[in-house]
Amino acid sequence: MRILVIGSGGREHALVWKLAQSPHVTEMWCAPGNAGIAEEQIQKTEKPVQCVNITAEDLPKLLAFAQEKKVQFTVVGPDNPLALGVVDLFQKNGLRIWGPNQRAAQFEASKVFSQGFMERHGIPTARGGTFDDAASAKKFAESLDGKCAVKADGLALGKGVLVCANMAEANKAIDEILVSKTFGAAGSKIVIQEFLEGIEISLHALCDGKTAKLFPTSQDHKRALDGDRGLNTGGMGTFSPTPFLDQAQLEQTGRLILAPWLKGCMDEDIDYRGILYPGIILTKHGPRVIEFNARFGDPETQVYLTRLENDLVELLDASVSGTLGRTELKWSPTASVCVVMASGGYPGSYAKGKPITGLDDAAQLPNTKVFHAGTARAGDQIVTSGGRVLGVTSWTKDLKSAQAAAYAAVQKIQFEGAQFRRDIAAKAM
Ligand code: AMP
Repeated sequence: MRILVIGSGGREHALVWKLAQSPHVTEMWCAPGNAGIAEEQIQKTEKPVQCVNITAEDLPKLLAFAQEKKVQFTVVGPDNPLALGVVDLFQKNGLRIWGPNQRAAQFEASKVFSQGFMERHGIPTARGGTFDDAASAKKFAESLDGKCAVKADGLALGKGVLVCANMAEANKAIDEILVSKTFGAAGSKIVIQEFLEGIEISLHALCDGKTAKLFPTSQDHKRALDGDRGLNTGGMGTFSPTPFLDQAQLEQTGRLILAPWLKGCMDEDIDYRGILYPGIILTKHGPRVIEFNARFGDPETQVYLTRLENDLVELLDASVSGTLGRTELKWSPTASVCVVMASGGYPGSYAKGKPITGLDDAAQLPNTKVFHAGTARAGDQIVTSGGRVLGVTSWTKDLKSAQAAAYAAVQKIQFEGAQFRRDIAAKAM
């Protein structure tokens, strides 16, 4: 099978790495990919995975490329092309592609849609409201004493959520999004949710239009600095499983959220085939969904795919075919930990082009994989080219040893200004 993967981050490196292990794959391209993806090899044919210089948002070029290379299956990593309708476009042209269509991708592309959907279908979420004028938004925020999350409706590079502790912060956040239009058209409407206290976990479910298969638990670390301090980032590290939800509680949470979600999709004629990734806060009143994502999490993918025992091509194919009901997801009993190494200054401004050393040494370590995110090749060197640079991932018998192994690998790798958290998975021990 000839496969195209769309995207360039750590999530896409993990997808490529896992797909390349499938005996179904004969050729694989990644658009645009990164320096680590370009080093992957297809296990069956020993052919290299080829990176193609087309961005994930350039839908016409992606389509033309897939047609030219007679790609048989396309896998979409990031949210943007989904929101732009890449799945609809490929399907209209008779190409097989994995990911939710544009209508289904609204769960991530519109927080207003998601909040309304959860309320219509009794999915446990935060008390919230939807606004397009600042005065009524501020009135609602006041009813919450300013303790709220103010969210731009549309996609805003993961920066569209402002968490507020008081009315001064809430007023500022509302003005920033609705009046100053910091996030442009993505902020022409906002959702305000009450601030929820509790542990935040990530759920993933693979869906095929009628079935949703729940993954094990995982937890991200959103803040830049140790002890959950500093600015919100795309995610500085993950671990799976988390001890804060046992298997019975996970299944119960799945039933509470996925059963009404699936029924709601049927009622509203939404054909969801792809990953549904709800962000959840475990409050003292039970789990609450704070948002839906319509794709794999990054860096959750890195810990999930190092634990997944199924053939990923077969799983994604079943998700497209609507045959997931006959498939059982199999997970290794290991724990997996991913530590993100980022450029100095991230999530603010940062320098690019810093040479990375020690990757070969880290690659020698057992049960460890260094997934690349913001990397590029410059001559015979691999250099930094983004905020999150690497996702150093280790999997072994338990969280403690997986954490030790991941940090041992991090110690082998150097680049100027490298920053990483030293407490990934610490809260689980
Ligand atoms: P989101 O993109 O909606 O997941 O929001 C980004 C981050 O803001 C989340 O990962 C949470 O840490 C935080 N957040 C969002 N909504 C809430 C809420 N209702 N209560 C508390 N924290 C929230």
